[in-house]
Amino acid sequence: MKNLKISNTLTKTKELFKPINSKNVTMYACGPTVYDDPHVGNARSLVVFDLLFRILRKVYGDNSVTYVRNITDIDDKIIDIAKDKNLPIDKITKEVTKQFHSACKSLNCLEPTVEPKATEHVDEMIKMTDSLIKKGFAYVNKGHVYFSISSFKNYGKLSNKNLDELKAGSRIEVSSLKKNPLDFVLWKPSEEKDPGWNSPWGRGRPGWHLECSIMSEKYLGKNFDIHGGGLDLVFPHHENEIAQSCCNNSVEKMANYWVHNGFLTMNEEKMSKSLKNIVSINNAVKQYGGQSVRLALLSSHYKQPLDWNDKLLKEQKNTLNKWYNMYEKKSDIKKTPDCFEYLLDDLNTPGYISKLHELYNEAAKGDKDRKKSFNDACHLIGIFNETKEDWEKSKKKPLKISEEFILNKIKQRLEARKNGNFELADKIRKELSNEGVLIEDKKDKTDWKYK
Ligand SMILES: [Zn+2]
Repeated sequence: MKNLKISNTLTKTKELFKPINSKNVTMYACGPTVYDDPHVGNARSLVVFDLLFRILRKVYGDNSVTYVRNITDIDDKIIDIAKDKNLPIDKITKEVTKQFHSACKSLNCLEPTVEPKATEHVDEMIKMTDSLIKKGFAYVNKGHVYFSISSFKNYGKLSNKNLDELKAGSRIEVSSLKKNPLDFVLWKPSEEKDPGWNSPWGRGRPGWHLECSIMSEKYLGKNFDIHGGGLDLVFPHHENEIAQSCCNNSVEKMANYWVHNGFLTMNEEKMSKSLKNIVSINNAVKQYGGQSVRLALLSSHYKQPLDWNDKLLKEQKNTLNKWYNMYEKKSDIKKTPDCFEYLLDDLNTPGYISKLHELYNEAAKGDKDRKKSFNDACHLIGIFNETKEDWEKSKKKPLKISEEFILNKIKQRLEARKNGNFELADKIRKELSNEGVLIEDKKDKTDWKYK
């Protein structure tokens, strides 16, 4: 059996992975909140855990891994955007889920074994909340139910912080209804026009953290192998999942290994809505192709930050153009390439990719065995999923300008308008139009689309 090592946020060390049951290895990764077109920050987590899923399948067998990735389809962000756009909530969640699935397909992510939706598990969430109250871990106050963090001795262990640091360092919701500012909401009342479910505490909806505790337990058990997500989920989301599950289920551990991928920046800036520098997966795919985006996401180690910029994407596209010279259709022989060792060492993708370059060079000299290994190794990390013909065809499509470039131009245009320089603003609009991009000014933002 190959030895897989992974970094465990819970123990802060790289550990040898030992599954609870090697015939059914279990992994849960937090999926998207379906309120807006998914962006490349979400894509990183998606691709990292897809790679881990592929590695586990390679080591333990295709049918010996259960991978659960949820869809959060009830959330305040969804309610807000539905109000903004004056559309029914399920229209938004269905549409965005479709966009998300299309992004997964373009990035060649395998389908998870189960993809449960939060709204389909509200009854279980109500039961768990009720049980936490009865066991003394939660309390009710004016239609709200809060988890009392002082009832759980290991609170803060995952994020490695004491309670004072947590209070100081995070934006926590302040409410006079809470006994302790760090207590978090399990259930909250819904206004009449907002979505809600009947509960013993009145009509309301669950707090966000509850769904992952419920869905992981339902599909993987009270104690399972791996729980993953982006670094931003360590606190409070994962810390709170652990508190709820461990207290309710009387277990020492919820998941044995907690795996987190690093942040994505854009041109060294944090990617955020307010900075207007969020690139959607589907737009990045339109411009560079899904394989280039996937390779870019794997180009640095998953725990490290990754900077997203046009140069990085162009490099990946050039690499793939070259690699396709040695492309062979996927063979049925299930041989594991030697460089798999790199992936087993905490998903060392930069090491693996540099080995791919070496293999390519040897294959290009006419070494047939190396050509075979090179192809096997590319398929193993989920690239070379398009035939050479399809790849060549996509190359011939005119290259659209990148979202990064467009967002920058929109920023410059807004600045020009603010300064009364309407001539420059108009020039930028025309420049974008010549590049095939239409912009539309809305109340407080500028929307754009490829023509
Ligand atoms: Zn989650």
